[in-house]
Amino acid sequence: MGERRVIIAGNWKLHKGPAEAAQLISGIKQALSGATFDCEVVTAPPFTSICSAVEAAKDSPIKIAAQDVYWEDQGAFTGEVSAPMLKESGCSYVIIGHSERRQFFGETDETVNCKIIATLKAGLIPIFCVGETLNEREYGGTFDVIHRQVANGLQNVTIDDPDRFVIAYEPVWAIGTGKTASPEQAQEVHTALRKELSASRGADVANRVRILYGGSMKKENARSLIGQPDIDGGLIGGASLKVEDFLGIISAGSKS
Ligand code: PEP
Repeated sequence: MGERRVIIAGNWKLHKGPAEAAQLISGIKQALSGATFDCEVVTAPPFTSICSAVEAAKDSPIKIAAQDVYWEDQGAFTGEVSAPMLKESGCSYVIIGHSERRQFFGETDETVNCKIIATLKAGLIPIFCVGETLNEREYGGTFDVIHRQVANGLQNVTIDDPDRFVIAYEPVWAIGTGKTASPEQAQEVHTALRKELSASRGADVANRVRILYGGSMKKENARSLIGQPDIDGGLIGGASLKVEDFLGIISAGSKS
């Protein structure tokens, strides 16, 4: 897999207010201080818990992500949060195009594209989510869906620093369902994603962008998934909400 450093990222979704967020980060921080691990550790709390999470993560390797962003820097856009605001709040990453946002909040490939551009402009690292629904997989449309999401999502996007660009392959049928893609199924799509990147951005970008797998990853299945040559870590929902479960995945994602 070359030199791509594994990322273990927890997507807390709509869980953990400021006090609980600080508590969970402190638990992870404490557990990590006695552990040997060599992956990047990221947690994505809800917007209102970002500041307390950043504060709790101080002097630790834990990085904070936002779960969404708006593409304008400021203006009359009630309810939105911009990339410069996230940067100022201490975020390092932004999850963009999560399937729940596509499914419930009208996210499209076009809005995803605007968000990726704004995120990069602010100096933040996007975690760009793609993935097919069960129906799309069953009719054999997985690779077309992935191609469309990547081509549209990356329109006019310059990946100047591939080490600071992350894609998450999250089959929608595996998110929060307890169903996990097999390591072979996931690897097949990750290979296709890398080919897609290679064709549009060149081999160097394709080899350096980290591609995470997401969808019911747990400490029990993480090692076999992350052991695949093109899987560079995980985006984890449910199993990121408890220190012990998350730590198990961090340890599975560590080579040492
Ligand atoms: C996610 O929300 O990105 C996710 C993968 O959730 P879960 O691990 O719960 O399936």
